[in-house]
Amino acid sequence: MADRTPFFVGNWKMNMELADGVAFVRTLSTKLPSSGCEIGIAPQGVLLSVLVEACRSTTFRVFSQNSGPAKSGAFTGENSPDTLKALGVSWTLLGHSERRHVFLENEELIQKRCAAALSAGLNTMVCVGETLAERKAGKTLSVIEKQLGLIKGWVDPARLALAYEPVWAIGTGETATPAQAQEIHVGIRGWMERELGSQKAHAIRILYGGSVKPDNAKALMGQSAIDGLLVGGASLDPNGFAEIIKNGLS
Ligand code: PGA
Repeated sequence: MADRTPFFVGNWKMNMELADGVAFVRTLSTKLPSSGCEIGIAPQGVLLSVLVEACRSTTFRVFSQNSGPAKSGAFTGENSPDTLKALGVSWTLLGHSERRHVFLENEELIQKRCAAALSAGLNTMVCVGETLAERKAGKTLSVIEKQLGLIKGWVDPARLALAYEPVWAIGTGETATPAQAQEIHVGIRGWMERELGSQKAHAIRILYGGSVKPDNAKALMGQSAIDGLLVGGASLDPNGFAEIIKNGLS
């Protein structure tokens, strides 16, 4: 885990009603240590302002699940990064595999989102990962390097983190083994070192995501290059998410 602060993020996707989200924050905050790690939740956009309020007395970071490609303008259906920031949102996910594969967001769009978010003062967590076909073709690292290449000008480890999420492991119950995840995290850090120098490469946090559960959190976090977990389905239950965090830190 090196000296990087472990980061655990629950991505609720298009789930969780308002009252359940507020109750989740209350339950989670009674179950966790208040220091030693960073914890985030990423609710649906429409719940963000309520969840920012609910998290005010906690140390939880509120994430948006995406962020608009410009400060403002004719972008129907998007949320301005400046507005998110003003609301009290501190981080945004970008390039999640569902954005890339279901909504067909390309690298150029993700690059614009990243630049706009950082210039608005939002921290960004950029998700990268390969499909099963790409893995089978031995292209995992080259696919990820291409995804990283377009954001490399913005890599500031204090404000940008990465999440490695193999597309074939998201929501499928199929987890990368800790060794498979470690191998790719080491590869990403090696690329960072070559492209951006060892200081940045050492400082950047790389989370793993894809069917993380209470019973695999410890083994994944036991890998030296895995600095946190991005959790989808299993983050919808505050007890299960708390268990993931506790097991991950144990
Ligand atoms: P999952 O989703 O934990 O349900 O596989 C992870 C993610 O999409 O971030």
